[in-house]
Amino acid sequence: MGKAEPFTYDGGIVAPGETRNVRYTVSETYLGDAVRMPVTIVNGERPGPTVFLTAAAHGDELNGIEVVREVAHEWDHEGLAGTLVCLPVLNVPAFLAQERYLPIYDRDLNRSFPGDPDSTSAKRMAHEIFRNFLAPCDVGLDFHTSTRGRTNMLHVRADMEDPEVTRVANAFASNVIISSEGPSGSLRRELSDSGVPTITIEMGEAHRFQRPLIDSALESVRSVLAEFGLRDSDTVRWPGWRTVIDDSGEKTWIRADSGGLVDMHYDRGDLVYEDDVICTIANPFKTENTLMRAPFTGLLVGILENPLVYPGNPLCHLVRLDDRTQRAIEWNRRTNDDDW
Ligand SMILES: [Zn+2]
Repeated sequence: MGKAEPFTYDGGIVAPGETRNVRYTVSETYLGDAVRMPVTIVNGERPGPTVFLTAAAHGDELNGIEVVREVAHEWDHEGLAGTLVCLPVLNVPAFLAQERYLPIYDRDLNRSFPGDPDSTSAKRMAHEIFRNFLAPCDVGLDFHTSTRGRTNMLHVRADMEDPEVTRVANAFASNVIISSEGPSGSLRRELSDSGVPTITIEMGEAHRFQRPLIDSALESVRSVLAEFGLRDSDTVRWPGWRTVIDDSGEKTWIRADSGGLVDMHYDRGDLVYEDDVICTIANPFKTENTLMRAPFTGLLVGILENPLVYPGNPLCHLVRLDDRTQRAIEWNRRTNDDDW
């Protein structure tokens, strides 16, 4: 293999063997002050691929921030073969406001990639991030959580029709992969389309650091870096069981049949059987209960956290499993009790 290369971005260069913390200007406030995004670039002494880790494209989705920070600042990078580009807070204005979207025009940064220097504020910001720190990479991991008020089990979203993306998704070693191309303008789709295979990781709920999920994601990052040869000290993991859910697979958001207060009987990641009562919805007098049953046997990938619903509000995201996966989960549940 050749020599290790420097990593360059507008206004900076990070030499092999060097780690640099940068506050990179991506926009300006009403007062004309710089909006600066934190970036840590860890360039290994040895040559190898460049991997980015991004979080908080939605400003209130915090779990990934901790994953990216720990990789950047707590891991020993001695012997690293390649470069890590760590962007713990992509959407700075939304992060400061603790909102999902850019507060100014309520625009979704994660529908604004690859960006455009002559367009909206969201697209200008996306353009700066994309061309400086994401497009030059070889592999990407983008961390998200569920939308506020709900929670997700740790799972991957990736385009499993694309062999390069599949390699990243499998190496991440999560139990559940939901396969789709991803929406137009999303970081994952636009990077993957431009030749940087990228996956999204969904983990937990907004506004929290959830330690078991963070630890589990960190193990998976080690596995991805091992797969692509950045770290000799780690190995590629196998998650014990895996199910890939594509468009043909049955999955549904179960929605409330009545308004009221929800008593959820299961947790994210639980297996439920057909006709099991997943939750009950009660009126304030507890005189009337609506029982919400599982329409088929499957896995609860996401569930409600905020227990208040109008009719039609989503209660949980249920995906059907094939028999083999179901048996593997049942066997795993008997032998350990991981928090997914
Ligand atoms: Zn998100």
